[in-house]
Amino acid sequence: MHKDLPNRPHCGQVTLVGAGPGDPELLTLKALKAIQAASVLLVDDLVNPEIVALAAPGARVVHVGKRGGCKSTPQHFIEKLMLTAALEGENVVRLKGGDPFLFGRGGEEVQHLQAMGVPVRVVNGITAGLAAISSLHVPLTHREAAHGVLFLTGHPAAGPHATNWALLAHTAQQERLTLVIYMGVSGVAHIQSGLLGGLPASTPVAIVQNASLPQQRQLLCSLGDMALELQQAGITSPAVIVVGEVLSLNPALALQLATQAPVAQRSGA
Ligand code: SAH
Repeated sequence: MHKDLPNRPHCGQVTLVGAGPGDPELLTLKALKAIQAASVLLVDDLVNPEIVALAAPGARVVHVGKRGGCKSTPQHFIEKLMLTAALEGENVVRLKGGDPFLFGRGGEEVQHLQAMGVPVRVVNGITAGLAAISSLHVPLTHREAAHGVLFLTGHPAAGPHATNWALLAHTAQQERLTLVIYMGVSGVAHIQSGLLGGLPASTPVAIVQNASLPQQRQLLCSLGDMALELQQAGITSPAVIVVGEVLSLNPALALQLATQAPVAQRSGA
């Protein structure tokens, strides 16, 4: 606790809750209990309204995501809201898509709350990449096809911290890793050209939009076709891009890939 902070006997608490990929049945029991017990909920964009509806009737719901009314609620404003509500004695739930600690800024929020001496808990959620790949009946790792998995953002910092996609692709190829790319739709052409610096054009790719929801769509293609196919299919955010040989483990997917891989066949890769 911050040494200058007064003792606050009536301070509430904040629980960062992972709402999962969308399907309310993928919530954990702990998440459900936290949502039902909350007096204030601060809700991100991608959280299914059916999950928000599980809150107690008198609970105050504040939508803080970019698509939730305000164009973009600045992070420091969200942190201030959380803090103020907790200091007023509220039982605050910060409801985030997927898992709070995977591309969810949960780490920053926990640091901020801890620095202010506010009790904070974290409840995991199923991350979108896991839901996406499970829906295709394909594992992320496999003794013969993939020894590990990398979760990456496709929307990284620019400049010296920009992602070196060719290096990642090279590593993925050498070490047999599956790549799961979040927030990659808008930068797909850039990601594709980088990955082709280290992976064959024939590498299988799956792009899954709205994983776990009734409106889920998925596209299977080869890495060499990825940007074009995505554009033609009209797939938009939220979607995850999965790259790796694990996708060929599902015979039905392998067959689809084999019959629709013109670039792979042309390149002979
Ligand atoms: N913390 C979240 C990720 C937040 S970043 C998690 O663990 O899932 C937002 C990105 O997550 C989106 O741009 C998209 O790439 C991915 N995403 C979130 N929900 C998704 C869904 N239902 N289907 C596919 N991708 C999703």
